[in-house]
Amino acid sequence: MQQASELCEKEEPPSSLSEILEAEEEPPDSLRAGALYDHPLPFSTTPILPFPLYRRQSVPKDTRSRQFRKKFYPGISAKEWNDWRWQVSNRIRTVEKLRSMLELSADEERALTGDGIKLPFAVTPYYMSLVPANDPRHPIRRAVVPTVGELRKGPGEADDPLGEESQSPVHGLVHRYPDRVLLLVHDFCSTYCRYCTRSRVVGHGSVNANQIRLEQAIQYISATPSIRDVLLSGGDPLLLSDNKLEWLLARLRLIPHVEVIRIGTKIPAVLPQRVTPKLVRMLRRYHPLWMSLHFMHPDECTPETTKACAMLADAGIPLGSQTVLLKGINDEVATMKDLMHGLMKMRVRPYYLYQCDPITGSSHFRTTVARGLEIVQGLRGHTSGYAVPTYVIDAPGGGGKIPLLPETVLGRDGHDLLLRNYEQRCFRYPDSM
Ligand code: SF4
Repeated sequence: MQQASELCEKEEPPSSLSEILEAEEEPPDSLRAGALYDHPLPFSTTPILPFPLYRRQSVPKDTRSRQFRKKFYPGISAKEWNDWRWQVSNRIRTVEKLRSMLELSADEERALTGDGIKLPFAVTPYYMSLVPANDPRHPIRRAVVPTVGELRKGPGEADDPLGEESQSPVHGLVHRYPDRVLLLVHDFCSTYCRYCTRSRVVGHGSVNANQIRLEQAIQYISATPSIRDVLLSGGDPLLLSDNKLEWLLARLRLIPHVEVIRIGTKIPAVLPQRVTPKLVRMLRRYHPLWMSLHFMHPDECTPETTKACAMLADAGIPLGSQTVLLKGINDEVATMKDLMHGLMKMRVRPYYLYQCDPITGSSHFRTTVARGLEIVQGLRGHTSGYAVPTYVIDAPGGGGKIPLLPETVLGRDGHDLLLRNYEQRCFRYPDSM
């Protein structure tokens, strides 16, 4: 039988990690942001505006992560703990290490020590600090610790349910909608979510941030004038070094028809230490730059994450959230409302609530669509509209996102439209001109 520790080593090639942790190199002058303009902007020689512009949000001393560090990493200083490269280098990746921190259930033991788990196991020490030692039902624990449910293939499940491979003109580039593309910068994540839509790809080392592949993607985007919006995702784009990420952003900004760049990331939730003043200073040079942040439970809204979001928001980056609806994790109205309110407080606008994609081994995470509609109904009208995400199914086979709404239009009576409000009361609207 293959041990999970071996499995992880095999499926997440060491090259991914060494690339992530590579020494920073200065980008060539031609790729600096200032090179994009007739009157060069200050880049490295002129001091940038004083930073932080963000409210200095102090992180309390008695956070869960601090208690966790004292218990499991007694020799590690706060400085080391808050260094994102230390967090990445010290991810929990073996069953032995996990056993030293959690009382594993029989189900978790079987999944971790058996054969057949495809998605690597890895969790940052910071994110592990949010996981209780003795509750296998805890939402964050369920999201990151494998269980045998992953080994079962349910009806209608597929490794690539969204048909991304068939809409990929260049390796790692998905062109589904006419005016935008998804560019997977690499397949490396600091923490692997057990319900990941791209579990067929992430952590397997087949999508690398090598320059030849990225150049091919950039050439495709350059040669396709209909593309006005590029979404960088992965794997997590914020795990690139600052310089490599800047190289990519600068190259995309040189393409005249690319109006908007978006970054999809789970970093503020799983590795908030990555959001450094240096990173934020760099990102704000490439506006309009938007971010979609992946959150799935209110326990993720910690002081550390709040600070990271504040830094990004203060750099003028519009923040939206993406949440997957997950059975036993966030499929209660109260939990979802707490999460949406937590996001609003961190200045993250709830954007999408996804019906969980039917990836192989996901049946233990998936709810019915009726449950999703009940949750949206429990939000709409009961909290501000800003706190209500759009509930969507990403259509299997590559049909794109299809919004789902609770029924509010009951029909017509002559010229009147019959409507139902959030209290289930009926109203008429005179819909005639
Ligand atoms: S962070 Fe995103 S890409 Fe990475 S494992 Fe989680 S869902 Fe997948």
